[in-house]
Amino acid sequence: MKTDFIFDAAQAIQRTILANEHTLESLDREIGDGDHYINMKRGATTVVDMQAELVTLSPEAALNKIGLKLLSTIGGASGPLLASFFMCMSKTLKEHGDDSLPKIAAAFAAGVQAIIQRGKANLGEKTMLDVLIPVATQFESLAALGHDAKLIASALTKTAETGMLSTQDLIATKGRAAGLGERAIGHIDPGAKSCQLMIEAVCQLV
Ligand code: ADP
Ligand code: MG
Repeated sequence: MKTDFIFDAAQAIQRTILANEHTLESLDREIGDGDHYINMKRGATTVVDMQAELVTLSPEAALNKIGLKLLSTIGGASGPLLASFFMCMSKTLKEHGDDSLPKIAAAFAAGVQAIIQRGKANLGEKTMLDVLIPVATQFESLAALGHDAKLIASALTKTAETGMLSTQDLIATKGRAAGLGERAIGHIDPGAKSCQLMIEAVCQLV
């Protein structure tokens, strides 16, 4: 992995968040407090504005810097969760290297585990994890089978979409929507939607 790729990914993420303002804001207004778009926009813009600082760093140092910065800028439930993803991904790449797809997949999966631990949620609770867990599992297995990056990117895009759509029929047991009970059914989780958009945007760069 190259730091340039991380920066291109940050720009692609910012573009897709800005292009989906209405969707993200309405989803969080329906089953949350309406701030998810603002939180994600602030996070993405902060990272893009770090360009000069990031390009001088190794990929793992850049990811750690991003995590630390997000911790203090995103806010909401999603801020610390996404921050722990980047910091743990960085730590795993530092320990095991970043020179192959299986290693990058393992670091992504470790980042997702950090979110699970920090937020004490898991699959099926109507959160971003309904996108991130299946994507991490599939990334690791396709990378272990030796598939090329383009095939993996296209499979992960589809899996992220399926995971995002699956949140529509779920009752939330974590986060703000947990208080809504059955009233949350029929609504897609905003964090699942933003994660799906981010994964799609990054996969398109491959
Ligand atoms: P807040 O809920 O504080 O307003 P955001 O609106 O930015 O923060 O983020 C809401 C999203 O955070 C939810 O849609 C959900 O995907 C995610 N989320 C909330 N709690 C958790 C948790 N414990 N584990 C994983 N994701 C969570
Ligand atoms: Mg919110």
